[in-house]
Amino acid sequence: MLNVVGKVVILTGASSGIGEATAKVLANSGAKVVLAARREDRLRELKSVIVQEGGIAEYKVTDVASHAEVEELARYTIETFGRIDVLINNAGIMPLSFLHEKKVSEWDQMIDVNIKGVLYGIGAVLPYMREQKKGHIIDVSSVTGHIVRKTWAVYSGTKFAVRAITEAVRQEEAENNIRTTIICPGGVATELSNTITNPDIKKSIEDSWDVALSPEAIAHSILYAISQPENVAVNEIIVRPTKQE
Ligand code: NDP
Repeated sequence: MLNVVGKVVILTGASSGIGEATAKVLANSGAKVVLAARREDRLRELKSVIVQEGGIAEYKVTDVASHAEVEELARYTIETFGRIDVLINNAGIMPLSFLHEKKVSEWDQMIDVNIKGVLYGIGAVLPYMREQKKGHIIDVSSVTGHIVRKTWAVYSGTKFAVRAITEAVRQEEAENNIRTTIICPGGVATELSNTITNPDIKKSIEDSWDVALSPEAIAHSILYAISQPENVAVNEIIVRPTKQE
């Protein structure tokens, strides 16, 4: 039996792309998933698909840039399922731009969602996981958390930060039996490019997705990390399309 059966998993960014695919894969493998994002219609629909297929899912509308809402998400999960085995910090946005364009509000949004959202999630679940003496925090970074290119300055900065934060959690919480995993996808065809407001950059990203992976490829790497025996921490996984440079 997979080591995922019965696990209570909070998943942010569950309303589309990698999060949606991961919710389905984990629920099909026996996890109890708590779906979080801002678009309630998408979450309601996803819950109903999972339940129709025999899985267990609940949802909580959550803006990860709100500390109070993320704390509420953790409380809701405890009230509903009694524990939190896994947190997947997957919510993210990618409004790429050149620095000289000075899209300050986009810089702020990326920092709020991609960095603060991850920190708020970790802060919200740690008290419960420390009490349980068991837990697993999975943070979705990116290949752009390893390398940087033109127009990626802030986005890459947030994804480097995610890797740094996750490594610190690993060191601080190892003695509490809390394991960590960093997931670094390469190109995956999702709605992520919708937040890019510079049309040329948006087009070049979408053009590069002709070799992109489906979100299920990333979902399966997350399933792999969760499924390992409790003493095995898969600390980082990089998954690129074979044809991505
Ligand atoms: P999508 O745009 O399809 O999904 C992003 C998800 O994040 C949505 O569910 C969205 O839901 C949610 N989200 C955005 N802002 C917030 C917020 N403030 N509060 C709560 N949820 C929010 O893109 P992907 O599936 O591709 O992205 C998932 C993760 O994977 C991101 O962290 C991204 O950076 C990372 N990634 C993606 C790659 C790719 O090529 N696609 C490559 C490398 C990493 P809603 O709008 O309903 O709130």
